[in-house]
Amino acid sequence: MKIEIKLNDTMSFSISTMLFTILIFFSIIFSGCETIANESANSNDRERFIFPLQSKSHYIINRFGSYKNLFTEAEDFHDGIDIRASVGTTVIASLDGVVFFIGEDKYYGKSIIITHNDDFKTLYGHLNSYNVKQGDIVSRGSKIAESGNTGYSTGPHLHFGIYKNKIPVNPLEYLY
Ligand SMILES: [Zn+2]
Repeated sequence: MKIEIKLNDTMSFSISTMLFTILIFFSIIFSGCETIANESANSNDRERFIFPLQSKSHYIINRFGSYKNLFTEAEDFHDGIDIRASVGTTVIASLDGVVFFIGEDKYYGKSIIITHNDDFKTLYGHLNSYNVKQGDIVSRGSKIAESGNTGYSTGPHLHFGIYKNKIPVNPLEYLY
């Protein structure tokens, strides 16, 4: 009997320790996300990036930041914006830069990453085809790809992300 009680005490102790650890873990993760989402753009950076499609009249179907994942029901983080665009829409470089990566990603599908000055990178995902190759120098507004529906996508759209020092920032704060 005594042994049984002892066991239960140990168990409840380790469960509460585990719950506490999980709580700490999540609070660290979510406080981190909040910092990223709330970080506002430096005024010098605000008007350098242009909308990655030729026409601005495209709906933004998913914004940057935390959201509830409908499949897993868990809190998730979207590190860019999703812009509705039919397959074959011209995708343009948001800023002058060098093509750093071209390839297939499990989530972003066919994607391109461009490096810019001052540790900025932009990512273009779910593409249909590429018009540049790795190492190409691109200028702001030049055609780099055609949008598509590749990778983890629920319909034709362009995923567009801006990273500052490898940290995702809200593109809507930087675009004009
Ligand atoms: Zn997206």
